Amino acid sequence: MRYAEVSVNSPVAQRRTFSYAIPDGLDVSAGQAVLVPFGEKVLQGVVLEITPVPAVEDTREILSIIETTPVLSQNQIQLTRWISDYYLAPLFSAVALMLPPAFERKALTFISPVQPDIDFSSLEDEQKKVIRLSLEKGRVGLKQIEKALGKKKAGTIISQMVRQGLIKRSYELAPVRIKPKSEIYISLLVKSGEDFKLSPKQTTLYNFLKDKTQPVAWAETRKKTGISKSIADALKRRGLVTFKEIEVRREPISYKNIVLSSPLNLTDDQHTAYNTIKLELGKVAVVGTTPRVFLLRGVTGSGKTEIYLQSLAEALKRGKKGIVLVPEIALTPQTIERFAARFPGRVGVLHSKLTVGEQYDEWRRIKNGECDVVIGSRSALFAPQPDLGLIIIDEEHEWTYKQDSVPHYHARDVAIKLAELTGAVVVLGSATPDVVTYYKAKIGNYKLLELPQRVVPRIGGALPHVDVVDMREELKAGNRNIFSRTLESSINKAIASGEQVILFLNRRGGAYYIQCRRCGFVLRCRRCDVSLSHHINDDVLTCHQCNYRIPVPEVCPNCGNRQLKFLGAGTQKLEQEVKYTFPRARHLRWDSDATTTRTSNEDILRKFRSRQAEILIGTQMVAKGLDIPAVTLVGVVNADTSLNLPDFRAGERTFQLLSQVAGRAGRGAAGGKVIIQTFAPEHYAIQAAAQHNYISFYEQEIEYRRQLHNPPFTQLARLSFMHTNDAVCQRKAEQMKETLVKEGQARGIGGITFIGPSPAFIRRLRGRFRWQLVLRGQNLSAFLSPLSFARGWTVDIDPVSLIQ
Ligand code: ADP
Ligand code: ZN
Repeated sequence: MRYAEVSVNSPVAQRRTFSYAIPDGLDVSAGQAVLVPFGEKVLQGVVLEITPVPAVEDTREILSIIETTPVLSQNQIQLTRWISDYYLAPLFSAVALMLPPAFERKALTFISPVQPDIDFSSLEDEQKKVIRLSLEKGRVGLKQIEKALGKKKAGTIISQMVRQGLIKRSYELAPVRIKPKSEIYISLLVKSGEDFKLSPKQTTLYNFLKDKTQPVAWAETRKKTGISKSIADALKRRGLVTFKEIEVRREPISYKNIVLSSPLNLTDDQHTAYNTIKLELGKVAVVGTTPRVFLLRGVTGSGKTEIYLQSLAEALKRGKKGIVLVPEIALTPQTIERFAARFPGRVGVLHSKLTVGEQYDEWRRIKNGECDVVIGSRSALFAPQPDLGLIIIDEEHEWTYKQDSVPHYHARDVAIKLAELTGAVVVLGSATPDVVTYYKAKIGNYKLLELPQRVVPRIGGALPHVDVVDMREELKAGNRNIFSRTLESSINKAIASGEQVILFLNRRGGAYYIQCRRCGFVLRCRRCDVSLSHHINDDVLTCHQCNYRIPVPEVCPNCGNRQLKFLGAGTQKLEQEVKYTFPRARHLRWDSDATTTRTSNEDILRKFRSRQAEILIGTQMVAKGLDIPAVTLVGVVNADTSLNLPDFRAGERTFQLLSQVAGRAGRGAAGGKVIIQTFAPEHYAIQAAAQHNYISFYEQEIEYRRQLHNPPFTQLARLSFMHTNDAVCQRKAEQMKETLVKEGQARGIGGITFIGPSPAFIRRLRGRFRWQLVLRGQNLSAFLSPLSFARGWTVDIDPVSLIQ
């Protein structure tokens, strides 16, 4: 008898596997998805190991195999175990990361007769009914019998009949609800020369269709002719055209507008960096030894992407494939296009903005080995890419690589583990590396590669000049405007010269603070401990945490006073100010309120690129991946939004954002300028960003980290507890601290210190209070591993922020 260790899809399973016997005749191997009995239920599970002996004496049998081909590779199995151990996450939550899209489904029970020719005469009426139902199609769903007999009755009768050997149960997963995709096509039903009268618009449509031999996609027709559907519908009613739905394969990348590209001649700096990577790709990987990690640091425009592309080509030449992670794929269609242009038809895309159907089709393609390169957001790391040889993480410092739900993994660290398991090479790229990453490169854990300048240096300097404007001086001079005098005149100048401007403000909405002028009362969310923001366009107050919305009150809810102050400015307020101050400029706003549909990101970008507006206003969305030559001025309206947060990464975060935003200016021949408005011009993060000086930022920052015992000199873990009662939270958090102190003493583990317990930065969220306890030390996963955490606790190893 052989046994299987199965990770079961049940919250009860936690970090354990369960032993099941493999019934004779069932061919089970590691990585396969199976159905297993679990208590009263039948659940999905994945076999992680085949063993000769079970971990427990009493085992039940595996019921069936969901798919013969394993869903997880051997490497992935090891990776799931590592993720579960390191991040203290339920095993199946790690397994689930690697399953095909829409794979997690309920198991359905079916009933079928043991023999097709049954002697009915001796059966009771209800038993007859069951047999008849199951004979109709050879089997019948349990649901259907329950409908006919009632749930309880059905249960007893079926159990009885199974015991009597009349019927048997079988299990199957609920079918995937993925619909094939189709598009509407239009074609002409009449021949030219026939006699009919048409309006001018109808004639346009007719002329467009008249020499087409095949039906044309309606979307294309509309785009090319500008004719609306109602006009086409009118022609249809007259019997002149017809519509047809045609099924299409889901292809997230549209190759229509992509021009193929070939490798560029590398600059000297690029060449040095590339050659080092190439050399490593040429070496035979020793699996399980120290992973080979490069940190490629280079400002935006220094040619990092070209190095990624050529390194991928090199890996392919050696029979290997690659995975490329980008932080926010929905915002970077340009990046996808560059990969698609170099590896046409061989690029797979995976991210959550795709429909489940698209994800499903892509996953299959990748699994079949049809994609040389998989590009996507952090979850693309778990794509079933065979022969993995190279993992690239672009903008490695981005926080989006950390998952903020269970398992709380960081894609960079998981990628490095995956590289250790597969022998793949990892390239981390960034203009402003995470301080921890850069430190590791400095001490030799990673190999540091640097591209010191932009590929095409511009006249007047390789990077845009940055002006820091002290807003305190503006106030002194009597300017209470959102724009400093410098920024206002620079915007006017840019617009007058036919150039484009980006205005960055990392806060959406209008005012984010509504206060009574008489009693000082601030309007707050009913469920969260945050003030409500005013959204100008729909004139409501909303909570940015939970989306709670109320109309703007006429009077102060506290004292009845009629005058409410609207304080602070978000992007909608900025938009109003732009309208008012630059009445002749056209503008666009790009933030999550403006991008509610799937294509709105691209729509806004396209409009700005095609010069349909002079000013683009946006939150951090504008900071990423925009490369628009006509932008000569970038204004950071308020650099202090992230600076004053009580988080040890506030300085780093600010530096990264400012550097990234600054990189949007001067991408064209006209050069560029950046204006940063701040109340703290002397802050090192702002100073370093203004000088484009990562090293000076790093040196200051690493010194603070050393002094305050923060990462990379220690490891952090954040334990938080949520409850509707504040006092319960506090007590639980205090008890946890006591437990941990004792645990440390009992096991002789020293060197762990605690911050807190204290209320979380946002003390109440969606009606629940939160308290947190932060641990500082080394090997915290191992320390915390034997402990169990009751419901209400969240454990976050290596948190990216202590205030979220
Ligand atoms: P990054 O990824 O560091 O922002 P890119 O790879 O996008 O930099 O390069 C910036 C620009 O320079 C792109 O338009 C790219 O096509 C161009 N470029 C990169 N490398 C070269 C090269 N060796 N020769 C000419 N142009 C290059
Ligand atoms: Zn709220």
